[in-house]
Amino acid sequence: MTEDSTPGFDTLLIHAGARPDPATGARQTPIYQTTAYVFRDAEHAAALFNLQEVGYIYSRLTNPTVAVLQERMAALEGGVGAVCCSSGHAAQIMALFPLMQPGCNVVASTRLYGGTVTQFSQTIKRFGWSAKFVDFDDTDAVAAAIDDNTRAIFCESIANPGGYITDLDAISKVANDAGLPLIVDNTSATPYLCRPIEHGATLVVHSMTKYLTGNGTVTGGVVVDSGNFDWSASDKFPSLSAPEPAYHGLKFHETFGPLAFTFHGIAIGLRDLGMTLNPQAAHYTLMGIETLSLRMQRHVENANTVASWLEQHPAVEGVTYAGLPSSPYYDRVERICPNGAGGLFTVALKGGYDACVKFVDSLELFSHVANLGDTRSLVIHSASTTHRQLTPEQQTAAGAAPNVVRISIGIEDAKDLIADLGQALDKASN
Ligand SMILES: *Cc1c(COP(=O)(O)O)cnc(C)c1O
Repeated sequence: MTEDSTPGFDTLLIHAGARPDPATGARQTPIYQTTAYVFRDAEHAAALFNLQEVGYIYSRLTNPTVAVLQERMAALEGGVGAVCCSSGHAAQIMALFPLMQPGCNVVASTRLYGGTVTQFSQTIKRFGWSAKFVDFDDTDAVAAAIDDNTRAIFCESIANPGGYITDLDAISKVANDAGLPLIVDNTSATPYLCRPIEHGATLVVHSMTKYLTGNGTVTGGVVVDSGNFDWSASDKFPSLSAPEPAYHGLKFHETFGPLAFTFHGIAIGLRDLGMTLNPQAAHYTLMGIETLSLRMQRHVENANTVASWLEQHPAVEGVTYAGLPSSPYYDRVERICPNGAGGLFTVALKGGYDACVKFVDSLELFSHVANLGDTRSLVIHSASTTHRQLTPEQQTAAGAAPNVVRISIGIEDAKDLIADLGQALDKASN
């Protein structure tokens, strides 16, 4: 044995949370396709319903296949617990739900997935919540945006779509000074490239739809809890610190300590919001995660090759990939994402909106889809699709201006990707 006996990241990818099935010895995690679980007796049932014993009641709350995925994601992110849910967007609501009340706000980065900008600027208002969008490179502005009703700070590690890397160390300091939790969407990076909890994040959310499953088959999300936040340090988080009427006055933080957020997410969040991940989706995601490191290495290698090639092309105005020395965020890669700047970037074409449309329509190997993080290379013209609901100012702030195409580099042969981009650029500039 070596001195360090804690399993390495690649071992956790394959083994964390899983064990041979106790009943059959099945080596791969089975799909427990069941809605309910037989109680040993009435006393057992009562203990489960009172949260005095941990076990399975009903698959809206917990399921053994989903539980393996939760344990694996917590291990990969270095958290104490995790709650899986039905999509990345569900994960964002599940992360905010225990923190917010009507009248409360979240301070969020302007550089976010387009759907998140819409969710935060419009939909959450129906709950009486609001978001304040700030340039997260300006830490003074982030601090200034925080008020008495702020309950969380929200950003992405590698921001979709722009090849932007958030200085998580600087932002977590602002959050910490204000006594607020920092929520980091780590979808574009995955824990292979970036581990936000090591940079001070309180909660990490993912769309598992993307790189974690990795092959475009599943919609899923997860919230990972660092276990590091003191929910009782102020009276701002009564859902976690004050007596919960639905469980006979139980106080989650007092009772479950660092697992308070995770237990609340299952016992209140999934129970009442019902944004549950199904066991089949969990199974596909577990299989995808087994090869995460291998895939991410190739995504990064291909992205570096293709982005460098594109940057030199005469039809190209610019490429925003933090892995290129020309990027203003290049010097953040080593500190924040030591294994690489990811597989996602945007390319701006000199020909503007029309050239972008022609370019996207001329690609053959790349698929024009509203997705990212697939083994296949994908492309989308954000301004006419994912970022369509945004104003032109919001589009530009989010890195999705009208002359910009987002590219999600797959794990094919880089030479074939370059050949396809080359022929499409030729067509687009004619
Ligand atoms: C896709 C995505 C989401 C939303 O996830 P869904 O699984 O589609 O709900 C959130 N954040 C980022 C960065 C994403 O790429």
